[in-house]
Amino acid sequence: MNSTVSTPIAFDYPQQDASGLTCTAQAWAKVPAPLTDVQKQSVLARIRSELIARKAVLIAHYYVDGAIQDLALETGGFVADSLEMARFGKNHPAQTLIVAGVRFMGETAKILSPEKTVLMPDLEATCSLDLGCPADQFALFRSLHPDRVVVVYANTSAAVKAQADWMVTSSCALAIVHQLHQQGKKILWAPDRHLGSYIQEQTGADMLLWNGACIVHDEFKGVELELLRAQHPQAVVLVHPESPSSVVAQADVVGSTSAMIKAVVDGNAAEYIVATDQGILHRMRQLAPGKHLIAAPTAGQSATCKSCANCPWMAMNGLQGILQCLEQGSGEIDVPEPTRSNALICIERMLDFTEHHPELLAKAQHGFVKNIGAA
Ligand code: SF4
Repeated sequence: MNSTVSTPIAFDYPQQDASGLTCTAQAWAKVPAPLTDVQKQSVLARIRSELIARKAVLIAHYYVDGAIQDLALETGGFVADSLEMARFGKNHPAQTLIVAGVRFMGETAKILSPEKTVLMPDLEATCSLDLGCPADQFALFRSLHPDRVVVVYANTSAAVKAQADWMVTSSCALAIVHQLHQQGKKILWAPDRHLGSYIQEQTGADMLLWNGACIVHDEFKGVELELLRAQHPQAVVLVHPESPSSVVAQADVVGSTSAMIKAVVDGNAAEYIVATDQGILHRMRQLAPGKHLIAAPTAGQSATCKSCANCPWMAMNGLQGILQCLEQGSGEIDVPEPTRSNALICIERMLDFTEHHPELLAKAQHGFVKNIGAA
């Protein structure tokens, strides 16, 4: 089996320092070489048998390759957004969790389940939001604003989460910030500037924003979306809030990946324009067959498409990597103490909030649904 990788591809992303200055930094991603059909069937068979032998469970994000999503569901695992992935990994009895996603998702699983072995197909699969918020610069920034409650998005390193009062995902960010605002709290938000702006606008909260961005959602174009909507006037527009405000402003539904899937499954419309990573279309098509799904445009004429709505780091998850985890124990996530214990505080606060306030989530998300990934 050829498990070599293609030439790494470079991506630009925004990185901020403690003073608020932002520069453009560069990261790379590498995608596993494709397998032939024969190789793929062989690898799938070996993974199925290893999952049973090792009593392991596969947990996948909606953005990874469809074959990995199918394998997770077929073998009793899970496909979900990052909030539900974390919750599933914590509650599942398996001692080994294979997390197909990006690094912060594996770290979150390990923080919640230190007694379990957490393995990832490629430990270098990262996220531009995580990269753009270095823990040392964030610590300095935070120390300059001691009067603010620190709320960080899930897409951060364990070392950043260890400094936070709250962790949130796009499923619950609006509801949690709304509650903090009601309590009169001022907020320091990191790292996604678009999601932060959207929440600030929706809640009216006093929020100081870190200047990070997701290189995938940052590429959606408002002008191009207007043109597409004109061609599909009946289509419902679904937008992930990591997208720029010009795109969010045209949305019929703004929400997490789970909320977007629910909107398609429950909706009466025949057509949907989807502004998030195209990996989600696989699960949407399975859950809502017959509905026409259109990927939102990422680049205008003469512009360049950096990601084409495919996260380069999610694409680093391959079947070969999953097999290596199982056969060789590679890709193990370690979160040392006291970082793990400190990071656990803000995650458990979020999990406790989502468990005890489902009505607030439903209100904020216009239709949040639990565990839709296993539906
Ligand atoms: S899609 Fe964006 S937010 Fe999600 S992992 Fe990739 S870079 Fe990070």
